[in-house]
Amino acid sequence: MTAVSAPGDTPDMNALAEQIKAWGRELGFQQLGISDVDLADHERYLERWLAAGYHGEMGFMAKHGTKRTRPAELVPGTLRVISVRLDYLPAEVETTKVLGQPQTAYVSRYATGRDYHKLMRKRLATLAKWMEAEVGAFGYRAFVDSAPVMERALARKAGLGWFGKNAMLLNPRAGSLFFLGELYTDLPLPVDAPFESDHCGSCSACRSACPTGAIVEDRVVDARACISYLTIELHGAIPERYREAMGNRVFGCDDCQLVCPFTRFTRASREADFAPRHDLDRASLVALFAWSEEEFLEKTAGSPIRRIGYARWLRNLAVGLGNAPWSEAVEAALWARLAYPSDLVREHVRWALARQREKRQELIAVSRKP
Ligand code: SF4
Repeated sequence: MTAVSAPGDTPDMNALAEQIKAWGRELGFQQLGISDVDLADHERYLERWLAAGYHGEMGFMAKHGTKRTRPAELVPGTLRVISVRLDYLPAEVETTKVLGQPQTAYVSRYATGRDYHKLMRKRLATLAKWMEAEVGAFGYRAFVDSAPVMERALARKAGLGWFGKNAMLLNPRAGSLFFLGELYTDLPLPVDAPFESDHCGSCSACRSACPTGAIVEDRVVDARACISYLTIELHGAIPERYREAMGNRVFGCDDCQLVCPFTRFTRASREADFAPRHDLDRASLVALFAWSEEEFLEKTAGSPIRRIGYARWLRNLAVGLGNAPWSEAVEAALWARLAYPSDLVREHVRWALARQREKRQELIAVSRKP
């Protein structure tokens, strides 16, 4: 281990930065980088994105003013941000195969296991404690999706990757299936070189693959059309024009990442917390739709799915069932929810039943053809 400082000496920031990176690896992060806090370019991008209304109901994206783009306004005294990357794709989990099985529910692969926030925050807190033991008390705060933080912009500045045309942060050796976390600090650490190159080239596979056409320009996503937004952030009815395109995606969507050529570099996560629970990587739509509210609360405890609540869970599954091939089991599952005490759920169930009836009629018509 490099000696950062002798007792009473001013800490050597270069040695500390190296030590922090070694600690990051020891804590299980795949990558760690350090940036300054100048996000002026991204502030302009965010202003344009908000002005276009692309954030939809996500009022929290607009409500913090410049705290999101000026880290020192969020945490006074912040000079540097330590960004970390943690890969999440569990080993032996199917992705595109499940998307091709319309009777099976597709849950975004970051959400089939336990929630990542606690795990990452704990590790960032440990990192801060180790730093404190080395250099004495210093100012810091750890974030994992928990505050207005431009996590991808900071990670790009810290050298962790570039912005793909799908607006995700892409790493040339790891793809984009990873979580990001940040430690804001007042230590004047040396910064890493930002990731300047763009490896997308002439590829636009993500834009073509988006089921709802949500990537309106390179690196610009209209969240209002994005299936992740529709199934997780949106509180009300899912606009009918998007329902068919949602297919079997009932919580989030990974399509723009799965088609990306860099996704083949994804390394399976070794984190036990991210292993799928309750068959959420392979369960049928009918099986999940049959969960009672008690089962939902019990099985999604400690899962990112919990935050959408039972009614929106049923709403999303109803859309998936409407898109599934006709079967008696699917129709019966929908009929069983037709009187569910929520206007939101009932409206989506009626829509799904109408779709199922159309499919049944089509099957009957085909069977009668000579
Ligand atoms: S699919 Fe192609 S264009 Fe989209 S992020 Fe990946 S490399 Fe870039």
